[in-house]
Amino acid sequence: MNLKKAKKVSDVLYMVLIGFVGLFFLFPQYRGWISVGVFLSLLIQFIFSFKFMRCPHCGKNVGRYDEVCKHCGRNVDAEPKIRNQKKKV
Ligand SMILES: [Zn+2]
Repeated sequence: MNLKKAKKVSDVLYMVLIGFVGLFFLFPQYRGWISVGVFLSLLIQFIFSFKFMRCPHCGKNVGRYDEVCKHCGRNVDAEPKIRNQKKKV
């Protein structure tokens, strides 16, 4: 999975989380179950971003809104071009 796809999936997970939070306030009678949903979607989001939100160049974790990797300083949106790599990490 590349970072672009991972970011899209992460956005979907984020919307699911917001949906659960909305439900939490809309249906006070189901708050027990809904908080389980909130917890699970947070957990999935966390595991997902830990596993897939990685710099395509150096493989370290990057934030969802990072355009440049804070570890190697390269643009994370660009696909890695092995032929054009000037520096090796
Ligand atoms: Zn990097």
